[in-house]
Amino acid sequence: MSRNRSKRSRSRRAVATEAIKDLECIMLNNYDTDISNSAASLILRIGKKHGIRRSGYYGFSICRKCKKALIPGINYRLRIRSKSLKKTCLDCEEVRTLGPSFVRD
Ligand SMILES: [Zn+2]
Repeated sequence: MSRNRSKRSRSRRAVATEAIKDLECIMLNNYDTDISNSAASLILRIGKKHGIRRSGYYGFSICRKCKKALIPGINYRLRIRSKSLKKTCLDCEEVRTLGPSFVRD
């Protein structure tokens, strides 16, 4: 039985990963803030439930504080300072620093 269960949870994870990828596409191809914000909160919810973490740079980001989609130039500021990236959410002023070991993949 345990073999079956592990197989099922693997495919469930694969389905969740696919769903996150789809939501990322929706976020990237959509400039309607309501739709991208609900996609962002869904990505966080699915990721939390299934233990999927997206790392690296995908052209967008999600604010951990206000759980909104961060679109560069709209509600999100990216600054490079001394080999590290500073990401600022313009809605809640939350600053996240990436690097200097930040790897772009
Ligand atoms: Zn924020």
